[in-house]
Amino acid sequence: MTALTPKKGRVFSGARPTGRQHLGNYLGAIQNYVALQDEYECIYCIVDLHALTTVDTTENLRQNTYEMALDWLAAGIRPDESILFVQSHIPQVTELHLFLSMVTPLGKLTDLPTFKEKVRMQPHNVNYGLVGYPVLMAADILLYKADTVPVGIDQEPHIEFAREVVRSFNYRYNAAVLVEPHMKATEFPKVLGIDGQQKMSKSLDNHIELAATPEETQGRVMQMVTDPQRLRRTDPGDPDVCNVFSLHKVFSSPEEVEEINVECRRAGIGCVQCKQKLARNLNDNLEPFRDRRLELDRNPGEVWDVLEDGQQRAQEIAALTIAEVKQALGLA
Ligand code: SF4
Repeated sequence: MTALTPKKGRVFSGARPTGRQHLGNYLGAIQNYVALQDEYECIYCIVDLHALTTVDTTENLRQNTYEMALDWLAAGIRPDESILFVQSHIPQVTELHLFLSMVTPLGKLTDLPTFKEKVRMQPHNVNYGLVGYPVLMAADILLYKADTVPVGIDQEPHIEFAREVVRSFNYRYNAAVLVEPHMKATEFPKVLGIDGQQKMSKSLDNHIELAATPEETQGRVMQMVTDPQRLRRTDPGDPDVCNVFSLHKVFSSPEEVEEINVECRRAGIGCVQCKQKLARNLNDNLEPFRDRRLELDRNPGEVWDVLEDGQQRAQEIAALTIAEVKQALGLA
């Protein structure tokens, strides 16, 4: 494998191992990960330690890690350029997490909106890891000296938090060791789940998996909720409030999108026909991905090899950072 070549900057991003990825994952993150490789050194991490803060069982953790890596690779992550690895394979991240926690006021963490949301979602399990989640997230970024972090706008407080941690650490220990990361806001089409109500999510079972068969995809598309005001085939519809149309805008040709836009409004096309077109276009778009995925899945050992190679390359960067941090702390 080749070393990272200097580019515009160094990107770090991570996602929890949620297994097979869905369209929401693809449009919200993966396609951006793939594109960023052209301009940045990219480090992509499957953050299994973060997953421990919310999962009830770790039974599927390893399989979910594998499935997610498989999807990312099939979608176009290039492991000979980018580093792809698993968070827990680099022990220094937990060390840095501890060091950063010494410059983190507790109130700052409990005030974060994301923490309050987690407490609301799992009041039965407000664990210590949940409070320290942003510190571990900062450790992920800072350990690899990433200067650019592609995230959705809801993650902005975490990046700002990481920047504050850097300033506190460098000031307290009088050493310019850590690098302040910058947020690269990710723009992506707003696509909801098949319920047309909520964000696409596995836990809500409103998702369409990238690796689903064409028949499964067709089945899920046919279940999609459309314009709720369009009750009969003869009623005109409003594509602007229809999630089927949102997906057409991503996966269908501009001509077809325009045609649906016009025909829907004058009841010239029915929702069944419109969904059939979407299912066909989705399947056409996903076919190369599915072929690559099948190919990769024939040799699972090679996917684990990619993650091991990523671990070694990530480890080299992590070891250097931790050595500098320990020196700044007077521990080395
Ligand atoms: Fe939505 Fe298509 Fe039905 Fe219009 S015709 S409401 S865009 S599914």
